[in-house]
Amino acid sequence: MSLEENGKKGISRRKFIQGTAIGAVGLASAGMLAGCSPKEETPSDGQAGTSTSKWSWETKPDPIPASEIKKTVDTEVLVIGAGLAGTVASLSANEAGAKVVLIDKNDTWAARGGHITAFGTKLQKELGISVDYRQVIRRWVYWAQGRCKEDLLWLFAEKSGACFDWVRDQVEPRGLKIAMWDGYFKGPDYTEYPVTHFFYQDGTDFMYQNGNIEGAGNGVLLPILEEIIKEKGIEIHYKTPAVQLIREGDGPVTGIVAGEAGNYTQYNASKGVIIATGDYASDQEMVERYDPFALQADSQIYFPNKCNTGDAHKMAMWAGGAMQKVEPHAAVIHLESGAQSYAFLHVNALGNRFKNEDVNTQSKSCTKEYEPEGIAWTVYDADGLSQVKQQIDAGIGGGLFYGQTFQRIGTEFDMAAEQQVLDLHISNGKVVTANTLEELAEKMGVPVDNFVATVKRYNEIVAAKNDEDYGKRAELLTPIVKAPFYAGKLLSTVLTMVGGLRTNSNLNVLDENDQPIEGLYVAGSAAGDFFANDYPTICPGIGHGRCITFGRLAGIIAAGKSIDVVPSLEV
Ligand SMILES: Cc1cc2nc3c(=O)[nH]c(=O)nc-3n(C[C@H](O)[C@H](O)[C@H](O)COP(=O)(O)OP(=O)(O)OC[C@H]3O[C@@H](n4cnc5c(N)ncnc54)[C@H](O)[C@@H]3O)c2cc1C
Repeated sequence: MSLEENGKKGISRRKFIQGTAIGAVGLASAGMLAGCSPKEETPSDGQAGTSTSKWSWETKPDPIPASEIKKTVDTEVLVIGAGLAGTVASLSANEAGAKVVLIDKNDTWAARGGHITAFGTKLQKELGISVDYRQVIRRWVYWAQGRCKEDLLWLFAEKSGACFDWVRDQVEPRGLKIAMWDGYFKGPDYTEYPVTHFFYQDGTDFMYQNGNIEGAGNGVLLPILEEIIKEKGIEIHYKTPAVQLIREGDGPVTGIVAGEAGNYTQYNASKGVIIATGDYASDQEMVERYDPFALQADSQIYFPNKCNTGDAHKMAMWAGGAMQKVEPHAAVIHLESGAQSYAFLHVNALGNRFKNEDVNTQSKSCTKEYEPEGIAWTVYDADGLSQVKQQIDAGIGGGLFYGQTFQRIGTEFDMAAEQQVLDLHISNGKVVTANTLEELAEKMGVPVDNFVATVKRYNEIVAAKNDEDYGKRAELLTPIVKAPFYAGKLLSTVLTMVGGLRTNSNLNVLDENDQPIEGLYVAGSAAGDFFANDYPTICPGIGHGRCITFGRLAGIIAAGKSIDVVPSLEV
């Protein structure tokens, strides 16, 4: 795992904030400022004082000379990236009859998290869960303000259930089980849907250890997928970075060059190349270019370390491909690296309340960045955790703001597990605790009088059951009166950039004229046109959901078969 503070990555948070202040405030100017910072300045027309901003990848590298290519591998479908999208694509292309080679620059597969969105799966039917998927897609489009390709969303809606069930059918005979997550956000305004699945190992006892359960999530799914890939005879070449795509003029992509300088391998792929290389969050220059707001987050997590550097986005652009038109790109920014936030009072560095706390983790992560220094705390009292339990068990709360990402449908909130997470966060300083509000404020480093006045005002709101200040639901208003008091620091974390290569419903990469590039496909986080503005957690696990769905469809299409072999859900 890499957990990197943005302040250590060249552009510090403070410097970035100063820049926005000079640039006359606001997110828009922040974007312009960072977007205009040239990586390399080259004279454009010889006139003094003019220059053209150039991002490093805008300079297309020379083709790798034949003398440096020491080996050739012939296949039909070449998949780049052994994450969820790439492994599913490889298996699907193989099943569709193609000879497949899968390469990855790392020495093993990539996996993280575990939530997976799918619509209308067998498990949902078994559990009697039905969802109005048309409404979900309408809300999705609304969330994106219409700036996504609806055809991709409807394709997802129709095919995700069958694609998920197909993965289930692969891995269930090898001991993996599936469950659905019960912790989705259950609010009347911000609403998540019961569409979130996860895999776990047979025999998992679901005892939380500091917020984690051994044996659940994609960390148990990927090794099984890899095992099946090997059994099917699909070659996996690890430690093999793809470096360039092979394309003659406007013709099809016919392969790639991969490996190390001076010792490259040319992979000829007669049916197609599937890009499944994940996102570019570890390439700061790309983040600056496509979503500078993400640089304001406190940290970035990704593992394996720094594999998501947008390599194939760049390779595709060198080969004539284009990025999606909508900018800035959306990013997954959650409160992953700080304290659990819950729906309690949140205050900023001045000790002031600043929002209705009844929103998802993504909204909290983003709105806290508008506060001074991006600092925010959640504040609660001795009854806090039991109030969370009441809210979750009553079905009026939820979302990724508490510590139980594998709470299965049909099970109750686990108080002991949540207490473990709290104890851990107290021991590592993410949560401070005190017997008086004054002492708590001092530990938080916020102005004492202001903070005490804020809590007093909040308690008045709670007593009146009417949040006149920010309109929070009355059933989530709980007093802060009983020592010990707690304050948890909220830290925003970039997980994935979810903008990417321009694509269509045939999963081809498109060029600047929106024409498909023959022989070049994309799936997973490297693909664009699916999200806009923000990452809508209305379907928790949609990142993995699209890896499975579009990974499977891309594999079938690249192998030359019709996706009609995948049953469609009537939506
Ligand atoms: C901590 C954390 C938790 C998360 N939890 C969830 C969750 O619960 N649900 C959810 O939906 N999403 C979650 N996400 C996001 C999710 O992990 C990604 O959306 C998803 O894994 C992307 O999968 P992928 O197959 O597209 O790419 P990746 O999993 O990133 O795999 C890409 C692979 O490509 C390889 N690669 C890259 N460049 C090259 C190259 N040049 N040559 C060869 N190989 C290359 C990499 O080494 C890597 O193995 C989480 C993210 C993080 C960081």
